[in-house]
Amino acid sequence: MIRKARIKLTLLYSAIFLLLFWSLSFGTYAWMNQFFGDTGKIHIDQAYRNDQERDSLSRKESPNDVIMDELRNVLVTIDFFLLLAIPLIAWLLTGNALEPVQKAQKREKQFLTNASHELRTPLSILRAEMEVALKKKRTPTEYQQVIQSAQEEVDDMSALVENLLFLSREQTKNSSPINEKIDLTDLIAECIARLQQRAKQKDLKLTLQPAKKELVIRGNPHLLKRLFTNLLENAIKYTERGSITAKITQIKELAIVEITDTGIGIPREHQEKIFDRFYRVDESRSEQGYGLGLSIAKQIMDVHRGTISVKSQSGVGTTMKITFPL
Ligand code: ADP
Repeated sequence: MIRKARIKLTLLYSAIFLLLFWSLSFGTYAWMNQFFGDTGKIHIDQAYRNDQERDSLSRKESPNDVIMDELRNVLVTIDFFLLLAIPLIAWLLTGNALEPVQKAQKREKQFLTNASHELRTPLSILRAEMEVALKKKRTPTEYQQVIQSAQEEVDDMSALVENLLFLSREQTKNSSPINEKIDLTDLIAECIARLQQRAKQKDLKLTLQPAKKELVIRGNPHLLKRLFTNLLENAIKYTERGSITAKITQIKELAIVEITDTGIGIPREHQEKIFDRFYRVDESRSEQGYGLGLSIAKQIMDVHRGTISVKSQSGVGTTMKITFPL
């Protein structure tokens, strides 16, 4: 599709520019012809007639004709050169202009491939479990186990579909209003309260260090809750022992939130890529998840004109740093 568009654009630009340049050269020739062509000939010819070379002139070609011949040759050469150069330049320029579109198309294709792959895995697990269960008569407890496992797979799939829908909706429409006044401490405290139980189950200490004074930002509370929940959930997921802290500070016109855990950390070579869609550091350590949480977080920060970055050391822990303009 992109190639077709490139060919069409090249042809269109070539036709427009060739027409323009050829009209220009034709115009130049016609304009010069007024002075040196048949009508303008008289003046110069008369001057030559008064010259000492008048005799020889009768044998030679008139200088007007020589000038016009020269001009024609130059213009034809230029026009021929343009016939080759313009399509080539147009091809290169359209390629350059279409590059972002091509990249976006490639990304979308990759996104679709990944999404369908991720959906296929739990679906085939579901199918296999049901097939095994239906092969012979089972006890009620066995049926219950199969249904329970199926429910877990369905929950996973629902979470994935919800994340995919979120990404595509936010990307295409940028629909969410982001101008509500939000007390950052209250919002993060609410997210922490909801996850406290999950942290306790793993024996992790989950605490909030609020800023010295109230920090109010403009944003969308729904999106920001999702952002902090994603980051805190990751911190819980990838920490086996120790603590998780959400620290809020202010530096000049910036509100800064740092979520620090004492978990497994992220190796340096992966740190740049973890914000990409479907990127997971290592399948074996990501027991749950599809590699979408951080790309959603990044998208939410883009909408809020803020930044998100990671500082991490394998085996020591991770800090996710978020900054908001105040
Ligand atoms: P996932 O759903 O797989 O957790 P994310 O986009 O949230 O996807 O994260 C991408 C990858 O970054 C994860 O697979 C995980 O390996 C790594 N990661 C994210 N947060 C942390 C963290 N706090 N500690 C260690 N690794 C992390």
